[in-house]
Amino acid sequence: MSGESLNQITVNRSALRHNFHLLQKKAGHGVRLLAMVKADAYGHGMKEAAAVFSEAGCRDFGVAELGEGVSLRESGIRDNIFVFLGCLRSDVPLFFEHNLIPVIFSLESAQALSDEGVKRGTCIPVHVKVDCGMTRLGLFPDALAGFLLELQRLPGVKVGGIASHFPRADDRNSSHTTEQFRIFNSLDVNVGIRHTANSGGILYFPQTCCDMVRAGISLYGYYPDGFSGIEFEPEELLRPAMEFNTCVLQVKTVPANVGVSYGHTYVTKKESILAVLPVGYEDGLSRSISNKGEVLVHGQRAKIRGRICMNLCMVDVTHIENVHAGDAVMILGAQRNDTISGDEIADWMESISYEVLCLFGNNNERKYI
Ligand SMILES: *Cc1c(COP(=O)(O)O)cnc(C)c1O
Repeated sequence: MSGESLNQITVNRSALRHNFHLLQKKAGHGVRLLAMVKADAYGHGMKEAAAVFSEAGCRDFGVAELGEGVSLRESGIRDNIFVFLGCLRSDVPLFFEHNLIPVIFSLESAQALSDEGVKRGTCIPVHVKVDCGMTRLGLFPDALAGFLLELQRLPGVKVGGIASHFPRADDRNSSHTTEQFRIFNSLDVNVGIRHTANSGGILYFPQTCCDMVRAGISLYGYYPDGFSGIEFEPEELLRPAMEFNTCVLQVKTVPANVGVSYGHTYVTKKESILAVLPVGYEDGLSRSISNKGEVLVHGQRAKIRGRICMNLCMVDVTHIENVHAGDAVMILGAQRNDTISGDEIADWMESISYEVLCLFGNNNERKYI
């Protein structure tokens, strides 16, 4: 075991499977559930997570960039892989070689794809992105009909569907999603499948599910609006799939009025026992939660004291009995009767669970159970 990191991310496959089945039920059994596995499956490992979803019945996968799509294909996924950031001219051959579906929003990429299709004597399916109010990628609704007409003239591409994306579906009290969906729904085109719902859409605006939904954060066990999103029937709850645990490196007793870590931003008020942990911002523990965040030691909360360093941080264990070097520490997840969730850490960071999962998962060794 030499050389192994003291920091360990554990990904629970059965939680991923449970979330997939629960979301499939919520979306409706006739609706395709696309698994968003971009950003290395929000830190859970793209190959491993996609394999679990595939086994659970998933036939559609989504990534942001071409390189991710190629890796996913090479990992053995045989089903649809959608690349959401479109297709550059120079990337065109790779879409054909790896049988990837580009989500496009410009005539230039359509033309380049079609030329390559003609050259290869084939026709590539594309989906068209429409911007109904996100103000990010996509054509405006009034440009869609003209765009589709142009595509009809290109023999090497075939439109398989249209897609849009919600900016505010995590807010179930906002009427924006309903309004945006009305615009999407009124697009009077008959082109394959329609998809616009993200996790917020599936959970809070089920009427927006259409032919396919694109689940990201919810597959990994989190509600897009954090704490307030939690529904209370236990069998209906999403299950967080990631845990982050580490251990105590050293325990030291320090007198009152001692500065802790860089800048001495914390000064002990009384004699204190500090545990030094091998976790820092390099491991995804954001420096912004210095003097703010907490971890679990022996099932009890210990506050981070002083600045989080690159590979280390200190926590106050004065109130916890018998803490020794080597004791288990939970950064994200449950220990005994308490749990620190990604939403709680996100709150300390003034961010969202998505960022916490990416930071932890993509900066540490992962193990699968
Ligand atoms: C990331 C992403 C999703 C998934 O969003 P969640 O809020 O994580 O469910 C869906 N669609 C697109 C286009 C995305 O980029």
